Amino acid sequence: AGDATTRDLIGWIERFHDLVREHQAELTELDSVIGDADHGSNLARGMDAVVAKVQADAPTTPADLFKTVGMTLVSTVGGASGPLYGTFFLRFGGSAGAAEALDATALGAALRAGLDGVVARGKAAPGDKTMIDALTPAADAWDAAAASGASVLDAASAARDAAREGRDSTIPLVARKGRASYLGERSAGHLDPGAASTTLLIEALADALAT
Ligand code: ADP
Ligand code: MG
Ligand code: MG
Repeated sequence: AGDATTRDLIGWIERFHDLVREHQAELTELDSVIGDADHGSNLARGMDAVVAKVQADAPTTPADLFKTVGMTLVSTVGGASGPLYGTFFLRFGGSAGAAEALDATALGAALRAGLDGVVARGKAAPGDKTMIDALTPAADAWDAAAASGASVLDAASAARDAAREGRDSTIPLVARKGRASYLGERSAGHLDPGAASTTLLIEALADALAT
């Protein structure tokens, strides 16, 4: 696979929508244990709206695409994850700009910009049992792969593996941000729903780049 075009990135968003739909019940089940049982339905509602917009009026640049994605998520997803995912995509698009094709270095920079946006907005640190526990290792693995000359597909595969490990690392953690933090020590022993959904996001990117 070559560098990522806007068409590939639309494929990413469509694949993420499919994975969210496929795992909606599981995400809500995770959120029922340490939250309020709406993470799957929140993201499904948001991604349904995103895909409807993107398919009605196909964006021609990454900046246009991710502006639509981010703004739609902010306006359709209630709860913490809407503004956090929205910020991720708005920052991602701001970094990717109007490039016709993004190489591994440029995509890694966009991923990092998105992660930085989530941290700026949500103020979570690694280890707080949130979505950034999956996103941070993914961005780190992406950059390491890109620095050693990996293709976008190989960088995405490395990021996917790191996201899965990061997701699983949230199980023993005590939540310090979001609703799960209300449980204190009782939040330990359970997977964070946001870390699970952001792993789907990175898996979707690896899948989209492989096709
Ligand atoms: P809500 O908690 O408002 O119902 P969701 O259930 O959709 O929203 O999303 C919950 C997820 O959001 C958590 O599992 C966690 O990963 C993520 N999250 C919550 N607060 C923060 C934060 N401050 N920074 C980063 N991620 C957060
Ligand atoms: Mg919730
Ligand atoms: Mg909620």
